[in-house]
Amino acid sequence: MKLGIVGLPNVGKSTLFNAITKAGALAENYPFCTIEPNVGVVPVPDKRLEKLAEMYKPEKVTPAFIEFVDIAGLVKGASKGEGLGNKFLSHIREVDAIVHVVRCFEDEDITHVEGSVDPIRDIEIINLELIFADLESLEKQMVKVQKMAKGGDKHSTEKLQIMEYIKENLEKGIPVRSLTFSEEQQDFVRQLFLLTSKPVIYAANISEKDVGNAQDSPLVKKVVEYAQNENAQVVVICAKLEEEIAQLDNEEKQMFLQEMGLESSGLDKLVSACYSLLGLISFLTAGPKEVRAWTIKKGTKAPQAAGKIHSDFERGFIKAEVIPYDTLVAVGSYTAAKEKGLVRSEGKDYVIQDGDVVLFRFNV
Ligand code: GDP
Repeated sequence: MKLGIVGLPNVGKSTLFNAITKAGALAENYPFCTIEPNVGVVPVPDKRLEKLAEMYKPEKVTPAFIEFVDIAGLVKGASKGEGLGNKFLSHIREVDAIVHVVRCFEDEDITHVEGSVDPIRDIEIINLELIFADLESLEKQMVKVQKMAKGGDKHSTEKLQIMEYIKENLEKGIPVRSLTFSEEQQDFVRQLFLLTSKPVIYAANISEKDVGNAQDSPLVKKVVEYAQNENAQVVVICAKLEEEIAQLDNEEKQMFLQEMGLESSGLDKLVSACYSLLGLISFLTAGPKEVRAWTIKKGTKAPQAAGKIHSDFERGFIKAEVIPYDTLVAVGSYTAAKEKGLVRSEGKDYVIQDGDVVLFRFNV
């Protein structure tokens, strides 16, 4: 699961991306190996891990991670090949969701490519480029489907209808993500790989002086209003501050946030929002060796969740011993929970829930 960071030049993308890579560098136990230079990996904040670590005193604690790709270079005219145009559009094609950074900070020393700070105009410039790119791609795909429809293929006629509907809306400036489809249609729409079908979070980048009273910023208000019309979320960040916070260790970070009167960092909020935007949840495993959070899509059944840990776990799946995190913490220990019969035994049709603490039993 990857999120692409997009936005006009000079809105704070690199600053945010730096914050991400710095925060990621502290996550020394990232369980995957090679990371591309334009990819940043950050831990998903999860207070439950700390609590389980107190309980189990494990050798290590491994959070879930989420990946961000820095997609710089998207400018006005990108869909017509301006700037590094099409190359960047193809990078967006590979991500699961988009973080659209919008400049909401005033700073006379930092030029704005469009001459003034106007987040809605900026959003529309980028959205329009993505819509243009989608129209081009859709029209190409329609030619093929039209041929098949002429040949008498009934499915193609249905497909063509959906494509026409999407095209009409794109022409009105409406992104595919704002349209509603039946489940069946959705499968087809997914196969069109359109950029505007990807879910979006707007990251409103505010100036340092607005931290703490961001809700009063007229620029932020405009972005929130715009996003509401699209059913999209807004996360307020101050990229510059996030870059500084990301260099602190956990204790320093907590102190700093407390001083600023903040509950969590903007980056943590962004990561959590992205996680739920992608429909992701975490189940937990706990033992003396490791306490760990594992990422799954909402709706994943026990054997497939086991497969996230090891393919053998899925193949030889027998059952899952499950206790919700809250119950485990309330009882105080796994042994006590077992004695009280609170650890459930679940079979292959069980849908894993967020915060389930799970022990898989399997045949080798
Ligand atoms: P990009 O082109 O979108 O990657 O933008 P950059 O991250 O390079 O930022 C452009 C300029 O804006 C840099 O000089 C940053 O230091 C500055 N900048 C980014 N975020 C903030 C912010 O939150 N507050 C202020 N005052 N400046 C920022």
